Amino acid sequence: SILVQDITKQFGDFLAVDRVSLTVESGSLVALLGPSGSGKSTLLRIMAGLEKSDHGQIWIENEDATYRSVQERQIGFVFQHYALFKHLTVRNNIAFGLNIRKASKSLVKQKVDELLDLIQLRGLGDRYPSQLSGGQRQRVALARSLAAQPKTLLLDEPFGALDAKVRKELRTWLRQLHEQVHVTTIFVTHDQEEAMEVADRVVIMNNGRVEQIGTPAEIYDNPTSEFVMRFIGETN
Ligand code: ATP
Ligand code: MG
Repeated sequence: SILVQDITKQFGDFLAVDRVSLTVESGSLVALLGPSGSGKSTLLRIMAGLEKSDHGQIWIENEDATYRSVQERQIGFVFQHYALFKHLTVRNNIAFGLNIRKASKSLVKQKVDELLDLIQLRGLGDRYPSQLSGGQRQRVALARSLAAQPKTLLLDEPFGALDAKVRKELRTWLRQLHEQVHVTTIFVTHDQEEAMEVADRVVIMNNGRVEQIGTPAEIYDNPTSEFVMRFIGETN
């Protein structure tokens, strides 16, 4: 599990994350949902170890990870404009993430094949990123993260740059993928439909604070604030 305890982050005199606490169960798929500027990315970066918090702790699998580096946290992440290596094929992009130093060529091939199956791009391993659609590229980026066998996957609007139809397809795909690999996953979105459809639990953020945490059904049936009621009522 991941435990976020009383995390605070200030930029100058602006409070971007304000005493956030939450628990993410191992193997669950959790959405961080909130309007632009609500502190979602900042919180995710703190969880990844890419940014230092001013106050509070991050626990990963029952160990205090607050002062650990990104590598030590064994976290995979994919951000919105995640660049693949342009000069490498899909296969080699995925192989780049593999955590096996002295692996034989045949083992690398086997692992890459497994990952290509997982992202449903088996036939496209020899293409270059420029020969893929946006959605296909995002899937390759996810496969590259998964190749390192992270315990945790942090996704910051991974499908944000794509059109509505592709986003919907990837949503379904992410859910299916999660059911296959069970990596603890936290993904950021400002699209309430996306959060409600994909996540086991949703964390609603506003002005750097957690407004409500619950299953999609709990949040729909029992919004605990005016803000949540309005926010989930909006359609994007
Ligand atoms: P979006 O949905 O637009 O991505 P967000 O919820 O991810 O928004 P953050 O990126 O976490 O929001 O930013 C939270 C607030 O902190 C914003 O008001 C932002 O301008 C501010 N902020 C973020 N990073 C910095 C920084 N490095 N320096 C100053 N202010 C920052
Ligand atoms: Mg953001």
